[in-house]
Amino acid sequence: MCFHNRQLVLGKQSSINLNNTGSMDKDKSTGQKLEEKLLMKPENLGNIDNSLLDKAQEFCEPYKEFLENKTEREVVDYTIPILKKKGFKEFQPGKKYVAGERFYMNNRGKNLIMVTVGIKPVSEGLRIGVSHIDSPRLDFKPNPLFEDTDMAYFKTHYYGGIKKYQWTTIPLSLHGVVSLNNGKTVKIRIGEDPEDPSFCVTDLLPHLAQNQMKKSAPEIIEGEQLNILIGCWPYEDEKVNAKVKLNIMRILNEKYGIKEEDFLSAEFCAVPAFKPRDLGLDRSMIGAYGQDDSSCAYASLMAEIDCINPEFTTVTVFADKEETGSDGVTGMRSYFFRDFVEDFVSAYGLEVRHVLRKSICLSCDVNAAIDPAWADVFEKNNCSFLNRGPVVSKYTGSRGKYSTNDASAEVMGFLRNILDEAKITWQVGELGKVDIGGGGTIASEISVHNLDTVDMGVPVLSMHAPLEVTSKADVYMLYKAILAFYASKNVKQ
Ligand code: MN
Ligand code: MN
Repeated sequence: MCFHNRQLVLGKQSSINLNNTGSMDKDKSTGQKLEEKLLMKPENLGNIDNSLLDKAQEFCEPYKEFLENKTEREVVDYTIPILKKKGFKEFQPGKKYVAGERFYMNNRGKNLIMVTVGIKPVSEGLRIGVSHIDSPRLDFKPNPLFEDTDMAYFKTHYYGGIKKYQWTTIPLSLHGVVSLNNGKTVKIRIGEDPEDPSFCVTDLLPHLAQNQMKKSAPEIIEGEQLNILIGCWPYEDEKVNAKVKLNIMRILNEKYGIKEEDFLSAEFCAVPAFKPRDLGLDRSMIGAYGQDDSSCAYASLMAEIDCINPEFTTVTVFADKEETGSDGVTGMRSYFFRDFVEDFVSAYGLEVRHVLRKSICLSCDVNAAIDPAWADVFEKNNCSFLNRGPVVSKYTGSRGKYSTNDASAEVMGFLRNILDEAKITWQVGELGKVDIGGGGTIASEISVHNLDTVDMGVPVLSMHAPLEVTSKADVYMLYKAILAFYASKNVKQ
């Protein structure tokens, strides 16, 4: 049984009171009344309020559009115009912002920090929500193009934790940027438009897979076999050796003005080409690539936008490189976040460490929802369930709580009060059974700043697969939870 907002369950049956002598209560035994008073009763969001799906549907239509942005760069490019429309201006370091003002900071086109200045002085601390906008995928190697057996391919080095065999024989699209030696940058996106060609990694036919099928899953498809098929038609010239490769380069050159050498200064990746879609006959779910962590990114973006005049200053951060360990200038280990806070608060004569000490942060990231097909890796009292609302994780990590943030009782209590006051249905969840595996989030990169942090996110089925599944009601409820956190006037001790 996962934690559930008891208040909301009781709220639905507001006549329940142990001392109540109403007709409804008369039929209940003393034990039943005591059970209601003392024990948690987790429930499906649809049982609490069946009409919730309608609101969730409405909320998730633009979410599906957001999911069409499949790389961190695309998410940033897509989000900035939305922010501008909502009155966010570009951040000016040194400016003393006043309550109600909104601004954003774009770090290298891969991070966004969005701020709405609160009524209380910044010295009282910030309410921060961090999610990540990178997702597992197939990155290109620096010298990717080759020809073999009269076919042309791109060589890849996968990005993040994937089951490699899941990435064969599905339509892929290519996304990237090339930095040319004339200083210009070209953006490339092929395979998302229905008129575009698509690409794939091939797999072996079952008829000849006798040896392959004896291999363990990580070896069924090896890293060096994740080559993307991009053409098989030769350039017409007897004197040329790699005719197919040359023909591909000719097409790229005509369309984008690039040469093979330009791949050396490029960032390219292949991601699933399919569009985000409703899943299930009841359309209660979404099947899409990149919901880890775009579900949380979208929910926090909407909460930031909708929290117009917060008591405390709200800060929403889109991080990058989470899937590979948060290193690099756009990962959460970089000082970009701390430097930004310093630039912001020094205008008021404040020290960044004093402000962060008083602040609190939600590390908004997905968790694994229990899947009945794989129930043996989950512990049912402490895992998350689809449709029970956002999952709050006190800690992540693995095998003896290694590499975990582990939020304190006080921080959990602070968040619990906010969520219960706002009548948010939520649950607690660990990633899986203690000795099975584990995973991490950016919570530990955030708490390194002496900044209280707790994980909260959407439960997901098939996490890190090319097609991940979420419940629309959970995504909507996460938005409401982050909004409640941003809007709360509760003072953290
Ligand atoms: Mn994640
Ligand atoms: Mn992930």
